[in-house]
Amino acid sequence: MRVRILGSAAGGGFPQWNCACPNCRALRAGTFRGKARTQTQVAISHDLRSWFLLGASPDLRAQIEATPDLHPQTSSPNQALRQSPIAGVVLANADLDHVLGLLLLRELQPLRVYTTGSIRRILTEDNSMFAMLQRAPDQLTWSNFVPGTGFPLHTFAGEDSSLRCRAICLGAHYPAYVSPSRRSELNPGEASLGLIIETPLGKRLAYMPAVPQINDALTEELDSADVLLFDGTFWSDDELMRIQGSGQTAQQVGHIPVSSPEGSLNKLAGLRRPRKIYVHINNTNPMLNEAGSEYRQVRKAGWEIAEDGWQFDL
Ligand SMILES: [Zn+2]
Repeated sequence: MRVRILGSAAGGGFPQWNCACPNCRALRAGTFRGKARTQTQVAISHDLRSWFLLGASPDLRAQIEATPDLHPQTSSPNQALRQSPIAGVVLANADLDHVLGLLLLRELQPLRVYTTGSIRRILTEDNSMFAMLQRAPDQLTWSNFVPGTGFPLHTFAGEDSSLRCRAICLGAHYPAYVSPSRRSELNPGEASLGLIIETPLGKRLAYMPAVPQINDALTEELDSADVLLFDGTFWSDDELMRIQGSGQTAQQVGHIPVSSPEGSLNKLAGLRRPRKIYVHINNTNPMLNEAGSEYRQVRKAGWEIAEDGWQFDL
């Protein structure tokens, strides 16, 4: 399986349009030791012909253009000019920075979207713009899954791609735009998911962009993965409050911080098997600064910090 990281920042990207935090300011001034990043987006493929997106970021159009593998391939003159190697999208939550990109894929291209019944209802029943994805009968096919149960990802032809996906419940937190009445009808176990993708040879990718807490069961799951892409949104729990002057803690918005005894660096220190990579990094996170002590601390602990454009095989 080939894994491509098309974007590695949290919602807002790096720099963020309305942010003058030390990181964003230094990046704009050209004095930052570190890289700009688009909003988190991962693409995977087993045969390098059918690709699957994990989430659909608001930066998706530019991310596709920056990735030749995802361009329409016209190998023969008889081939249709409107086509795409993107066969499907797996949605792990209904956050805007994870679903807005779907609206950018509205040009009548057949596409399969895998998600939970609850996330599908939020998008299709409460947000009428998503009807643009269902103007033609063969345009978008919704494929519901249940957390805990594995399901195959299908190629365009409807064949098994030989990649299997399984979602695990990480949190019961629905986005703020979901109304209280709708929330009361939804299954809390379908709100915020991690994805495990498995190849036919049993190699596993764990994709966990929003993790509110870590327990023993999750740690065990993560230690069975070969590559772990984990929530690196915030360095500290009060990071947003300090930058904004008010607001919510990292954990209140569904993200365990990287640092502190309760943070992921410490809680996951015992992982032995996976290559460990932080993704979904907020622009305020000091570990983005490669000249800083936080960056050194993370790298010394054996973690990598994802950058746009990375790819690897497993
Ligand atoms: Zn910033």
